Amino acid sequence: MLRLARAALREQHQRRLYSSASRVLSNGAPSATGAAYPIVDHTYDAVVVGAGGAGLRAAIGLSEHGFNTACITKLFPTRSHTVAAQGGINAALGNMTEDDWRWHMYDTVKGSDWLGDQDAIQYMCREAPAAVIELENYGLPFSRTEEGKIYQRAFGGQSLNFGKGGQAYRCACAADRTGHALLHTLYGQAMKHNTQFFVEYFALDLIMDDEGACRGVMALNMEDGTLHRFRALSTILATGGYGRAYFSATSAHTCTGDGNAMVARAGLPLEDLEFVQFHPTGIYGAGCLITEGSRGEGGILRNSEGERFMERYAPTAKDLASRDVVSRSMTMEIREGRGVGPLKDHIYLHLNHLPPEVLKERLPGISETAAIFAGVDVTKEPIPVLPTVHYNMGGIPTNYRGEGVTTKDGDPDCLIPGLMAAGEAACASVHGANRLGANSLLDIVVFGRACANTMAEIYKPGDKQKPLPKNAGEGTIAWLNKLRYANGDLPTASIRLSMQRVMQNNAAVFRTQETLEEGCKLINEIWDSFSRVKTSDRSLIWNSDLIETIELENLLINAVITMQSAEARKESRGAHAREDFAKRDDENWMKHTLGFWEDGKVRLDYRPVHMNTLDKEVEPFPPKARVY
Ligand SMILES: Cc1cc2nc3c(=O)[nH]c(=O)nc-3n(C[C@H](O)[C@H](O)[C@H](O)COP(=O)(O)OP(=O)(O)OC[C@H]3O[C@@H](n4cnc5c(N)ncnc54)[C@H](O)[C@@H]3O)c2cc1C
Repeated sequence: MLRLARAALREQHQRRLYSSASRVLSNGAPSATGAAYPIVDHTYDAVVVGAGGAGLRAAIGLSEHGFNTACITKLFPTRSHTVAAQGGINAALGNMTEDDWRWHMYDTVKGSDWLGDQDAIQYMCREAPAAVIELENYGLPFSRTEEGKIYQRAFGGQSLNFGKGGQAYRCACAADRTGHALLHTLYGQAMKHNTQFFVEYFALDLIMDDEGACRGVMALNMEDGTLHRFRALSTILATGGYGRAYFSATSAHTCTGDGNAMVARAGLPLEDLEFVQFHPTGIYGAGCLITEGSRGEGGILRNSEGERFMERYAPTAKDLASRDVVSRSMTMEIREGRGVGPLKDHIYLHLNHLPPEVLKERLPGISETAAIFAGVDVTKEPIPVLPTVHYNMGGIPTNYRGEGVTTKDGDPDCLIPGLMAAGEAACASVHGANRLGANSLLDIVVFGRACANTMAEIYKPGDKQKPLPKNAGEGTIAWLNKLRYANGDLPTASIRLSMQRVMQNNAAVFRTQETLEEGCKLINEIWDSFSRVKTSDRSLIWNSDLIETIELENLLINAVITMQSAEARKESRGAHAREDFAKRDDENWMKHTLGFWEDGKVRLDYRPVHMNTLDKEVEPFPPKARVY
């Protein structure tokens, strides 16, 4: 029975494929070519790569504007990493105390350690209340206050009245499963619209033309091995972060920076990759996340002497200082011999003093996670935790409208025609050198929507598209073929492990010239060793060996640029903490790094930070010392 049903489904799927291909061909798109690798051609107004929060919100907006939209995703949409987000989403709704989006903006600029672009930060914080209300109207089941308003919890780095009014309660949540609720809600909305989903299709490369415009993407259908050439007016990358370049990360194994690597391979820059966020509370050993919301609800970090040490490092914000500050303080405690456990190499997070009802109602997910991954009953015992890689502040440079930018002929904001990006893959840059908790779920919906709106300002549905360059996608097929038959002496998994260890050791919470120089040498050697990779599965039907090898190449490109960018930046700012250059150096380093990938080597360039706001509603916040 099951087999028959599957066969019927497959047939239906094939029919859909071929009918869409022939529809496209009759529109005058390039014909299918290549015997070894048959290609199916598609033409859409817009192609979104990724179906996490950013991709889905972009796709919904594009379809609402009437654009014929394809959404390509290597995962089933609701398996995207957004589903794992716990703590919540920031917006100055003012449900718990008086609030103002300008206060939220100030906190975000300060959190970014003045590397964030203030026009983009203004845009995000001003849009935030409407974005959260929109999610509520879409049906997101937010936690509620007694009066039935959206409940908002305390979160790290959030203050009232420009840092002078104490802790803000700004983080809207659905218990500690906000990402789950958000992603499922968006997926439900997306189903109402006409977006065509290509699920379990792996995007390989951008299609660029001679004028430097992006004209679409090449993708592999992982189920049957067919190649698909998508032509579009606009390509929107929403492929998420690359946490898996590190050994211990809270992000899913699928967070491999594919979109970033596609951009790098196309000769375009990646911005600020040296800024990698360590979340203070990953479960020791397992790396799974315990949300900052646990400290927002009153959780406390203690060292081996039982001391609440954050009082010493951040007298005002204490355990709710921003993440880079808490991670560094924990690392200092461990270094100075006050770590807990037999090896004195981690810290305890106490929730056992909180009322059991609070744990049950507001933190049910992490209570379960702590039981499964640390064997801890949170009502009785502390959770063993350690700073763990969590978020990539850097990514594909964009402006606040979601448009991809690069430097060209002295213009630091030169638009890349046809290319947009949103979400963790992008660098808008609203997070600058350090992202505040609960600002990323906000970023993905605000900038996903911005991409759709920008597209509607530039194009009309059905606008004519030039034919693709004759050889479009050829290079990608040759590359794919090479990896498929790669016959060296190093399995994918062994190269991946070497990369993860080097990133973990050499681009860590604290960095020095020595660790970074060594890191550059080691990571370059690992990149070179990729030419010796061996894949053992030659088929094209669900070839996870091949997919992991492509993902490894993508991770490596991100890793090499991260290390080189970090080595070059001779200052401490946000998550980039150098022991040998302990101070922020605004005179020389208040600028975004751009890493270009050229023949397996990195070329660095820089572009200025936007210190301007969009209009008179708020003045720019000039740089000052960052204390919590
Ligand atoms: C454990 C955890 C908890 C978090 N908690 C919070 C929180 O409480 N609040 C907050 O603000 N932020 C939180 N974050 C951060 C936030 O959740 C993420 O930054 C955000 O969800 C990323 O969304 P995204 O849409 O950019 O990417 P993702 O959700 O990662 O989606 C990426 C999409 O791209 C697709 N894709 C990738 N590569 C390819 C390819 N080659 N071909 C086709 N498709 C591809 C995938 O299929 C997927 O659909 C958390 C992160 C983690 C890891």
